[in-house]
Amino acid sequence: MSTKTLEEKQYLLRFRCDTKSHLTVLDHDICATKCPDKLCTVFCPAEVYKWEGKRMQVGFEGCHECGSCRIGCPYQNIKWEYPKGGHGIVFRLA
Ligand code: SF4
Ligand code: SF4
Repeated sequence: MSTKTLEEKQYLLRFRCDTKSHLTVLDHDICATKCPDKLCTVFCPAEVYKWEGKRMQVGFEGCHECGSCRIGCPYQNIKWEYPKGGHGIVFRLA
């Protein structure tokens, strides 16, 4: 049995990106003033969230749909939905 590295596993991921984000940061002021550690930039495994000085940028196209940001944001400041039907991540097993 072969063991794949994380990089090899990520290579198996494919994305069918929608033009509209399924992730929304509701209040950017909360990120700026109440969340000094910008926790979403830490717990998101796909590095979707990037703090750009005054605003959280959301690279929704690379979302793995793990759902962590539904519970990980201490201020419930992220609106999370599944991507529209037919869009989003595609997992391949080999
Ligand atoms: S974890 Fe929530 S409050 Fe903190 S920076 Fe991310 S979206 Fe903003
Ligand atoms: S669902 Fe998971 S991968 Fe997608 S943005 Fe949230 S934490 Fe990141």
